Amino acid sequence: MKNKLVIYNSLTRKKEAFTTITPGHVGMYVCGPTVYGDPHLGHARPAITFDILFRYLSHLDYKVRYVRNITDVGHLEADSDDGEDKIEKKARLEKLEPMEIVQFYTDRYHEFMERLNNKKPSIEPRASGHIIEQLQIVDKIMDKGYGYESDGSVYFDVVKYNENYKYGELSGRVLEDLLNTTRELEGQSAKRNSADFALWKKATPEHLMRWPSKYSNGFPGWHLECSAMSTKYLGEQFDIHGGGMDLLFPHHDCEIAQSTIANGKSPAKYWMHNNMITINGKKMGKSLGNFITLEEFFTGSHELLERAYSPMTIRFFILQAHYRSTVDFSNEALQAAEKGYQRLMEGLVKMEKAVAGNKSTFDVQEWITKCYNAIDDDLNSPILIAHLFEGVKHINNLLSGKSTLIEADLEIFKSTMKLFSFDILGFVTEEQSTSADNSMLSDVINLLLNLRMEAKANKDWATSDKIRDQLQQLGLIIKDTKDGFEWEMK
Ligand code: ZN
Repeated sequence: MKNKLVIYNSLTRKKEAFTTITPGHVGMYVCGPTVYGDPHLGHARPAITFDILFRYLSHLDYKVRYVRNITDVGHLEADSDDGEDKIEKKARLEKLEPMEIVQFYTDRYHEFMERLNNKKPSIEPRASGHIIEQLQIVDKIMDKGYGYESDGSVYFDVVKYNENYKYGELSGRVLEDLLNTTRELEGQSAKRNSADFALWKKATPEHLMRWPSKYSNGFPGWHLECSAMSTKYLGEQFDIHGGGMDLLFPHHDCEIAQSTIANGKSPAKYWMHNNMITINGKKMGKSLGNFITLEEFFTGSHELLERAYSPMTIRFFILQAHYRSTVDFSNEALQAAEKGYQRLMEGLVKMEKAVAGNKSTFDVQEWITKCYNAIDDDLNSPILIAHLFEGVKHINNLLSGKSTLIEADLEIFKSTMKLFSFDILGFVTEEQSTSADNSMLSDVINLLLNLRMEAKANKDWATSDKIRDQLQQLGLIIKDTKDGFEWEMK
């Protein structure tokens, strides 16, 4: 199949046709988690976004090397060059070794990503395992004159870089403004300019994670690991670099500056960023009390949650929005997502009962083209889901005899429904017992409503009304139609 994929490139700020550097191969790097806390919705969104890209590119027959790192060193409080290392701080609070914190939360991250049915990346490198590669980049930047040493730490000279390149290319920040807004904050800083960022930091006596280098006994700056690991596993230039929008600046702009100097070229052809999740309209934050972990979602154990929501409900909720739009969490939105997910899954289960007829009464190819057009348009998952719901309507019509498909059309219709629902959007059928309970419940409701039809046919209005009223009291919406009835749960 000819690839018609178009993606929005954050670097050029426009949608571009997707072509690869090496024919048939895709190198994709996504900034992974800093492993110092339990995974939350903010972890789920980039993981799911780039999972569907990974799945779709693989479906298009590309050989995809998907690298997603684990940040286990160098990410300091407030994403700055000063302050405590996030992992060390947690280790101190919990009286554990930093690497115990790293192991624990890496395992938690894996567990929850698996429950959300995200495929594992091809390589998952850790920052602490690539200190040598990071120091090699520091040396290259020093050799080329874009780094300077100050009291055992090494900084990237942003002002010099900006004379020959454009710093802030990705985020659109302007160096002048950055220098103006941060100047007052400067104190006894070891940096020449407030906008410079650390490549290597000399460790203070109490700092635990440290490595020897010719500069000092210290640790790498946070941005450096991604330049080092993407170069190591994907080469100096690769196809896609992804991450959350919160990483645009400074993280990704710094990565571009580092790689541009060290390798002489801009690292990635396409930059893709998923938007953020807000909770009841507000940014998620520990201090706001609206910080909900995935575990709390799955168990319902947070005061903002009316009840538990399953991993597939969360996945559906995230994919119901385009990845570049914000998603606002609310109980209402999650309950709507849960219903949507169940409706799709029930459709897929029912679909197996559909049998071929002797003519095709709707155009399957046209529907398939619409599905591909949606995903090809910068991974438009909400539109794709709308087409899958149109598919569910077709399933209902096939089962009720309102429409028919010949064998060949039916087969391709069924396989396309499964391809997009399971293989590309990554949904799985969840909680077999619950869906068995649901289908049992559906059968009982249909039985009662059929009895009501019989009562009506016999002009037994009392019985007919009684069945309708009592089912409505239980939360069922019943609609009488020309040829019977339709119902749904409120
Ligand atoms: Zn990164």
